[in-house]
Amino acid sequence: MINKISIIGAGRVGESCAQMLAAQKLSKHITLIDLDDKYAKGVALDIQETSPIYEFDSVLKGSSDMSAIKGSGIVIITAGLPRKPGMDRSDVLAANIAIIDSVMDGVIEHAPDSFVIMVTNPVDVLTYYSLKKSKWPRNRIIGQAGVLDSMRMSSFIAMETHYSVNDIQALVLGGHGDTMVPLPRFTTIGGIPITELLSTDAIDKIIQRTRDGGAEILNLKQKSSAYDAPGAAVAAMVESIVHSKNRLLPCISMLEGEYNQRDIAIGVPVVLGSDGIEEIVELKLSQAEQKLFDYSANSIRELTNEIKNIKVT
Ligand code: NAD
Repeated sequence: MINKISIIGAGRVGESCAQMLAAQKLSKHITLIDLDDKYAKGVALDIQETSPIYEFDSVLKGSSDMSAIKGSGIVIITAGLPRKPGMDRSDVLAANIAIIDSVMDGVIEHAPDSFVIMVTNPVDVLTYYSLKKSKWPRNRIIGQAGVLDSMRMSSFIAMETHYSVNDIQALVLGGHGDTMVPLPRFTTIGGIPITELLSTDAIDKIIQRTRDGGAEILNLKQKSSAYDAPGAAVAAMVESIVHSKNRLLPCISMLEGEYNQRDIAIGVPVVLGSDGIEEIVELKLSQAEQKLFDYSANSIRELTNEIKNIKVT
């Protein structure tokens, strides 16, 4: 168990993260920060009151004062606007970059030795922005996308077949959007690639549903985008860091030549342990897979370049 984790943004994703971190007993102190002080305190108290059922001793606090994150080993950033139905993740860039700019000022000042898990969208671009702004090494700022996208793909495979989700391991790389790169060759059921077990047509349908996974939830809920599965994805990343599990998970990382890309933050398989990103695992992609990855990288790069046209402060 780590001593303290802070979550910036006590909205839906922030609340779901906090509940899972507490229930999984990952941190002694969990602090939620939001612009709305009373709301953050209310969320913290609501989760605190689940402690008799989940049997955790974590202490939850809510505040609007960023200095309350002092002493955090991990800071999870979920502050920002979610997209509305019909919007793309990129549509919230201008609003969210200003929010992340001020949030990162607070993180750099009050939790200078922490690991940051970026969740706010567009998450690839904001992970890049936070790395550049802080000048922290790339192992310490990690973006969440691929764990959720791979969870969605695994769920869809289980829903479409009679196999147990326990035996399904999916792998989705690239950007967190329409250009994500689900990799059937590296997606297995009981160690057997799905290409051996499912028809091309079935795989194509699963891939498309995975790409549209966030939009499918948004279109159904209308009033909010997904938050339970994103919260669970973040908790899995936190658990791997806190318990030094060295899980191999797809996360957004700054590339410095890996996968023939540099100066871009994009989803790749990484080893997550007590030092954050301990290793970037470079797979030998086929020509077709590399083409999809490059296409995804180009679309992230285009959006990343838009930062230059946005006046942040
Ligand atoms: P939400 O509106 O429920 O919560 C956002 C919260 O951030 C609000 O409570 C708001 O008051 C707070 N906030 C805004 N500016 C702040 C600031 N400067 N400091 C502190 N708090 C601030 O939204 P949500 O559904 O929780 O989504 C949050 C973000 O996460 C969105 O950008 C969404 O697109 C993104 N998201 C990412 C993933 C992913 O996989 N990476 C998944 C789901 C959602």
